[in-house]
Amino acid sequence: HDETTATELVHTASRALSRANLKAQPAYDFYTSQLDLEIYRRHQLEQSLRNAIQQDELFLEYQPKVDIWSGQILACEALIRWDHPEWGRIPPQDFIPLSEEGHCYLPIGEWVLETVCRTIQSLLQQQSPVVPISINLSSKQLLHRDFVDTVRTCLHRYHVPARYLQLELQENALLHESEFVKETLQQLHQLGIELILDGYGSGVSSLSSLQTHPISSLKLDRSFVARLEEDDRPVPLIKSIVYLAKEFQLSVVAEGIETLHQLDQFRDLECHAVQGYLFSRPVGIEALRPLLKQGVLQPVESLKKSPKKPLPSLHGLISITRLNGKDVNVGASPILITRSTNRSVHFYASIRLPVDHQIELSLQLTDKIGRAHV
Ligand code: C2E
Ligand code: MG
Repeated sequence: HDETTATELVHTASRALSRANLKAQPAYDFYTSQLDLEIYRRHQLEQSLRNAIQQDELFLEYQPKVDIWSGQILACEALIRWDHPEWGRIPPQDFIPLSEEGHCYLPIGEWVLETVCRTIQSLLQQQSPVVPISINLSSKQLLHRDFVDTVRTCLHRYHVPARYLQLELQENALLHESEFVKETLQQLHQLGIELILDGYGSGVSSLSSLQTHPISSLKLDRSFVARLEEDDRPVPLIKSIVYLAKEFQLSVVAEGIETLHQLDQFRDLECHAVQGYLFSRPVGIEALRPLLKQGVLQPVESLKKSPKKPLPSLHGLISITRLNGKDVNVGASPILITRSTNRSVHFYASIRLPVDHQIELSLQLTDKIGRAHV
């Protein structure tokens, strides 16, 4: 069903063949046009990630963590953003794993550390209120021999007291349980840096790592919020985590809180702090300053209006035909087309598509079983 002429079919079959040959053990593979476009995007991102720092395409946003009862800002999390010149805003989940597959995670990690230290320095110099800022570590960063030195040097260069820096660790970074990781975490702790275990409760949720390492707080995995919307089944688990955290003298942060109802649920569960759109979305440094001055944030629930009746929609295919003046042939990805108001049309694709004047896209309407019409 992929193409309509013999030549095109042979062409698609040969693409499937080259993909099959890439596998560890050459086997067989089926052609899917969507995969082509995804592989193409990934390849493009991989190529340009190396230059993203030099091209000034990375920047940070900051999201406050607030006291669950008072709304007082306790700290902020720095979240990396990439504005790609062609593909637009790329979410960290799309490029952090790419950076970890190559070696880019090191320069990117150092850029984040340095940018955060510079931000803290400028807040301190301007005598605006300052709270600790946390950065997310890619699990490989911790295994790097010079990591503690890099952090120490950076704090020193920007005259930042270590208590203003927090590090968020993925649990899998601790699973190695190696002496080296243990020693690294001890040294960071001795410098005065607070260590936070991120996404707790989603993976192995090791109890021993809470005891072995100098962790000061746990961030409950964001998936708990969605799971609590369905039923009460996660409640005993969250209660046990909070109980344990108390025993180990750790604070518990609930992440991804969007509604007052969710806030109440986590208050009942005796969490200490929250981070989520209900209090603030991640914001640029300019928008953060007034929030820090304010000191206390009020929960603001966004009004989510669901459409009363489903909008009419059409199926289609989208592809890139020209890029920077050159013809490309990268297959197509299914899309759904809806009219949202009298003046606008929306395209929903399963992959993120670029919107840029250097890119020529082609759209094709199909019927429900995927046959092309136009
Ligand atoms: P994370 O550390 O769990 O970060 C929290 C994520 O939750 C952020 O997504 C944030 O924007 C999102 N979030 C916060 N409040 C809400 C809410 O109320 N509702 C919803 N739906 N989402 C909320 P983001 O910025 O896309 O980051 C995703 C992940 O990428 C982060 O997860 C972190 O693991 C990683 N990441 C971000 N910045 C960095 C970085 O500088 N270095 C490394 N290695 N990883 C990073
Ligand atoms: Mg985090």
